[in-house]
Amino acid sequence: MSHDNIRNFSIIAHIDHGKSTLADRLLEYTGALTAREMQDQFLDKMDLERERGITIKAQTVRLNYTADNGKDYILNLIDTPGHVDFTYEVSRSLAACEGGLLVVDASQGVEAQTLANVYLALDINLEVFPVLNKIDLPAAEPERVIQEIEDIIGIDAHDAVLASAKEGIGTREILEEIVKKIPPPKGDQDAPLKALLFDSWYDQYQGVIILVRIFDGTLKKGDKIQLMSTNRSYEALKVGVFAPVMREVPSLSVGEVGFVIAGIKDVADAKVGDTVTLLHRQCNKAMEGFKEVKPMVFSGLYPIDTAQYEQLRDALAKLKLNDSSFSFEPETSVALGFGFRCGFLGLLHMEIIQERLEREFSLDLITTAPTVVYRVHRTDSTMIEIESAAKMPEPQHIDYMEEPFILAHIHVPNDFVGPVIALCVEKRGVQREIKYLTPTRVMIIYELPLNEIVLDFYDRLKSISKGYASLDYEHLDFRRSDLVRMNVMINGEIVDALSLIVHKEKAYYRGRALVSKMKELISRQMFEVAIQAAIGNKVIARETVKAMRKDVLAKCYGGDITRKRKLLEKQKEGKKRMKNVGNVELPQEAFLAILKVE
Ligand code: GDP
Ligand code: MG
Repeated sequence: MSHDNIRNFSIIAHIDHGKSTLADRLLEYTGALTAREMQDQFLDKMDLERERGITIKAQTVRLNYTADNGKDYILNLIDTPGHVDFTYEVSRSLAACEGGLLVVDASQGVEAQTLANVYLALDINLEVFPVLNKIDLPAAEPERVIQEIEDIIGIDAHDAVLASAKEGIGTREILEEIVKKIPPPKGDQDAPLKALLFDSWYDQYQGVIILVRIFDGTLKKGDKIQLMSTNRSYEALKVGVFAPVMREVPSLSVGEVGFVIAGIKDVADAKVGDTVTLLHRQCNKAMEGFKEVKPMVFSGLYPIDTAQYEQLRDALAKLKLNDSSFSFEPETSVALGFGFRCGFLGLLHMEIIQERLEREFSLDLITTAPTVVYRVHRTDSTMIEIESAAKMPEPQHIDYMEEPFILAHIHVPNDFVGPVIALCVEKRGVQREIKYLTPTRVMIIYELPLNEIVLDFYDRLKSISKGYASLDYEHLDFRRSDLVRMNVMINGEIVDALSLIVHKEKAYYRGRALVSKMKELISRQMFEVAIQAAIGNKVIARETVKAMRKDVLAKCYGGDITRKRKLLEKQKEGKKRMKNVGNVELPQEAFLAILKVE
């Protein structure tokens, strides 16, 4: 069978530049969905994604298209997740394609995230062609943006398609370009099966569903398949395509993209980037680029109501079913009781999981400030990895410590270069390069400790650049660093959930800022509350919350009873996000205070 009529492509775009809207237009135009059936942004399935306008889980669809040349084509649109935390997943989705549409908002221009993904695509020799979206906007500047694409990315953009996904302008031209510019897949039909697993998720009814792109050979229903990274084998119970709903097919062959259901129990066994082959006729080499993804950012999650502990555990287990990059293990805190230490790919991933727990599982949680993994080299020459201050050994047992570094690409208009560099320096950054991509757009490349990024780097970056800076990063390595554990004490008692690992040089400054922020956040109690920050036995900062002068309720005595009840109810409401530590009530914000200090 010929595979000349297949085109596999992704849409590469910065967040909000119109990827999902354009995907909808392509589905609609090719009749995969009629306008009436069409649910806006079909590809962004989850509510949360829709609300935040981001794509969390990749979805893939097969489109049928009859081109101007009269031939019928199968176009596989491979959607990619759109955030910096998911770069590896993006790279695997791109590896399943021959080409990519580079969608750039004609009123905004090229952004860092666009660049990162375009480079990923160009590195693996995909055919990338530009589409300028949102040309309906009065602020659109197609000429300028075309020049920018050519200058910055270095691809020919003079015949970029001018489109408005919103108004359906340029849809047919885009489909024609896909057919003309993107090469058909190559591969050996008679070779042993070699397929790339580029996405997987857990379906409540069908178990784990994997998405594959066939590079060589054929995958038939009933085949015994093997996943090469785990050496586990399964039977392909169902094989099919999304068109756009699931439809079974007898087999998938070279160049094709589709799903396989093979009785895999756990998404952790269906690793993105793995190679699928046949058990009894294996290909001799796995696909390149496979990586095990590991959580990089951690935080503690505790139910406010201790009775919700079991519920929280069940909810975490459920989310984990669908997300192997997320991890959790029980953790106990003197201050917060029983909870879990959870690991995430990055900050956005963390926020998404926390939000789903609260929204879909109706849990009220206290979240502790995010931390990263540190390596502790002990004096007995063993090494442990720790992801919370609580696990840090006593100083006399530590030989030295290492912390993770990232390589950050920050893209800013030249007006903001000074402040951005100052911020990177403040955050212990090491400069790699400053590139003027055009006279007005600058790429600032820094090596930075991840620890500083998870605190407040992103928010600070956005505020000093009036929202214009964009950030993209990748993990580099672990580096030796002078780190100490800083404890926070409330009325003399250490609140373990507030302990932090900080760079020694920053400890005083952080300690002072933290206690003064906490002072603002803790409301007056019946007694005086002392807030202290300490390193070991040495107190480095102190603030006091004065005792309340009058009983709140005292005012109401003698007054009408409903007012008193209302007041009590209001207090109960406010309590939702409170946790008693000793006899002091701490609001959720206090546990995140470190994120709020400047
Ligand atoms: P994504 O983050 O790249 O998937 O972007 P979306 O498709 O979610 O679009 C982001 C926002 O831009 C949404 O509010 C869209 O309605 C809007 N949008 C998308 N395409 C166009 C367009 O061609 N013109 C205009 N004016 N708005 C658009
Ligand atoms: Mg989207």
